[in-house]
Amino acid sequence: MKRISRISCIIAVLILLCNFLPTMASAQQNDHDGKQVAAGTKGMVAASTPEATKVGEQVLKDGGNAVDAAIAMQFALNVSEPMMSGIGGGGFMMVYNAKNHKTSIIDSREKAPAGAKPDMFLDKNGKVIPFPVRSTNGKAVGIPGTLKGLMAAHDKWGTKPFKQLIDPSIKLAEKGIKVNWVLADAIKENKNKFNKAAQKVFLKHGKPLKEGDWLKQKDLAQTFKDIRDNGVNDFYKGAIAKDIANVVQDNKGSMKTKDLKNYHVTIDQPLTGTYRGYKLETMPPPSSGGLTVLQILKLLEGFDMKDYGIRSPEKYHLITEAMHLAYADRGAYIGDPKFVKVPEQGMLNPKYIEKRRSLIKMGQANKTVKPGDPWKYQSGKPDKPIVKQPDDKQIGQTTHFTVADKWGNLVSYTTTIEQEFGTGIMVPGRGFMLNNELTDFDAVPGGANEVRPNKRPMSSMSPTIIFKDGKPFMTVGSPGGSTIIASVAETIINVIDYHMDLKDAIEEPRIYSPAYPNIQWEKGIPEKSRQKLTEWGGQWDKKPSPIGNVQSIRIYHDPDFYIGACDSTRQGQAAGIFH
Ligand code: GLU
Repeated sequence: MKRISRISCIIAVLILLCNFLPTMASAQQNDHDGKQVAAGTKGMVAASTPEATKVGEQVLKDGGNAVDAAIAMQFALNVSEPMMSGIGGGGFMMVYNAKNHKTSIIDSREKAPAGAKPDMFLDKNGKVIPFPVRSTNGKAVGIPGTLKGLMAAHDKWGTKPFKQLIDPSIKLAEKGIKVNWVLADAIKENKNKFNKAAQKVFLKHGKPLKEGDWLKQKDLAQTFKDIRDNGVNDFYKGAIAKDIANVVQDNKGSMKTKDLKNYHVTIDQPLTGTYRGYKLETMPPPSSGGLTVLQILKLLEGFDMKDYGIRSPEKYHLITEAMHLAYADRGAYIGDPKFVKVPEQGMLNPKYIEKRRSLIKMGQANKTVKPGDPWKYQSGKPDKPIVKQPDDKQIGQTTHFTVADKWGNLVSYTTTIEQEFGTGIMVPGRGFMLNNELTDFDAVPGGANEVRPNKRPMSSMSPTIIFKDGKPFMTVGSPGGSTIIASVAETIINVIDYHMDLKDAIEEPRIYSPAYPNIQWEKGIPEKSRQKLTEWGGQWDKKPSPIGNVQSIRIYHDPDFYIGACDSTRQGQAAGIFH
């Protein structure tokens, strides 16, 4: 009897998987080597490098859980995507625990050191220091949190010895990785900001490593060995802490070893909201991600998106207008909630959303969008004024990855050193890059997101897990600085409103428009739709350009299986586990 039900279950899974084959085939055109979509009944990993995916896959095959795999993958990403994330940065690891149906977030966001000043990004005359300068010196470096975050996750949920999770990355760093086009481009574009230590690793005879070259990272391997043998001690209290403080101070920053010693992660509850009957668990402040994604979706909930075609002008118009309204509030009210009051309830209050939604008119761009007044819809009042900021910040590019295991646990993890290669400062002799996360603070002080000692800069990272009828439905997230919010919201719309399969939902061209009138767009948006929006008042960027890099898992029930998918904007891979 048992055998029969097992066989029928396998047959059901095979039938379902067959349904996905056409999607998987149609996705091949956007798939570098046919490995960006995968199915699995016992687990799934999806990350932006093949090396990290392989490492995570092995941990799951060896019986580790999703958190074990995620820890191992973060180290592997530090090696295989050194420009995007690592122990010199911070991030938000969202974990769904299938046993108690609870979602928690390990918040390892970087903090400003005790010596940071609200006006540290202004020059002598009170003018904002240009972004290329303020993002490449020691003042931009936040106290790194990633390593403490990984250790906290391991203490709380890990089942495999830590050594087993870091050893594959030590080997990877020693043996070397083949440089892919994403890394080669990043080295070429950022070489001028490298300090001597970074030049030694990423340049060969003064020239950037090229695609196909071999990258070995001996110092990073040694740092990982120190971590394996001594835990967080060297990094936060010992010799590595000294080296971090020294190089930051040599580059005009204030960070001291004491700052590293005093750094702690927090374990947070997700922000929850709904969209068309689905429940979203997403990232609360200090990220603006969850609130802004939810505001965009709630504004759009008042329109029947599916009545308009996926590439219709109406769809792009509604999304653009909703973004303008939500991003206006984002700039005005969000900061580290340990330092400022964020009007979270007001911003998502149905009456407030309705009022804001009434500003969206079909066929006509709203040219005068201002932040609303969410404080009218909840108790309390603002403790910070709205301060206008320069629009000179470059879009960051970091990384998002996701894991599911055979017990149903899920990880959705966005992790960053802010800009590609962060500040460009590598800790000499230690092999890892230091973030420039503090440029996520406002450059002009006075507002909710001004610099303060020990404060966390506002983020846009939006790791999210979606539930349907109380069961996990999908994980989603993306890098891309403030564009993250657009990538996450649009992927969700594509799946929920347009019923797209995961890879198609990720590949569907996205738009990003935080304020009237400019619209950034990805290749594939029909000329006709663009013309219409221009008539209605929008202004498209001259050329299309990639937006974000989404990794996502869809969770199916009865029979239980996973589909994982990666975005073709990088060389990521998904891998499913079947036993
Ligand atoms: N620094 C950005 C943030 O926290 C992340 C950069 C990125 O993911 O591209 O929002």
